[in-house]
Amino acid sequence: MRQLVRQQANGAASSAVTAVTAAPAPAAPTLMVSISARHVHLTDEHVERLFGPGHKLTPLKPLYQDGFYAAEETVMIVGPKKRMLPTVRILGPTRNFSQVELAFTDSISLGIDAPVRHSGHIAGTPGCVLVGPRGVVELGEGVIRAARHVHMNFRDAEYYGVKNGDFMKLRIQSPQCSMVFEELLVRADATSKLEVHIDTDEGNACFLDSATTVELQKYADGCACKH
Ligand SMILES: [Zn+2]
Repeated sequence: MRQLVRQQANGAASSAVTAVTAAPAPAAPTLMVSISARHVHLTDEHVERLFGPGHKLTPLKPLYQDGFYAAEETVMIVGPKKRMLPTVRILGPTRNFSQVELAFTDSISLGIDAPVRHSGHIAGTPGCVLVGPRGVVELGEGVIRAARHVHMNFRDAEYYGVKNGDFMKLRIQSPQCSMVFEELLVRADATSKLEVHIDTDEGNACFLDSATTVELQKYADGCACKH
């Protein structure tokens, strides 16, 4: 996973110009922008079918969000034309449904026409075959390109004036690749850290690795994109 942290352009640095009588503006929360490379979420049952009875995922590296991790285990994903991605990382902890998240480039490599969906909205999506060292799982559905979104806690949501389920924009300033991503879904809860998730194609398109500024923006009149 590649990540970039930048203080927002409208952050604390601008507070020096506010009038002395004004209450100090709250500092902008630190914004992390992360590229989610292709990965798999599995149920406990699928972990056992792929890695053997009683097997549990082994945490390899913690993710930015507390409690989540990249596992040591990987699986092979096989598409309908026998094209494959050999070592796709599993993210833990396990879930109550299995899901494969790909970038568009990955889905082209596999020959799977994966739709853009938010996590968990997998009804009617294509499936694939997962191959582990001890077994095979045929998923009937669950292959998606994860729609861009931003995790935050309720304090962050209050700072931006948004609520769970709203949409925001993300402006990225980057050498010759500056751009604005629209329609980021706000996923607010009590405990999440402020973090944008985009996929590899999106991260490469905006040259995230060299970005100088990242900034979340609220839509002036809510978002026209009613999903
Ligand atoms: Zn996410």
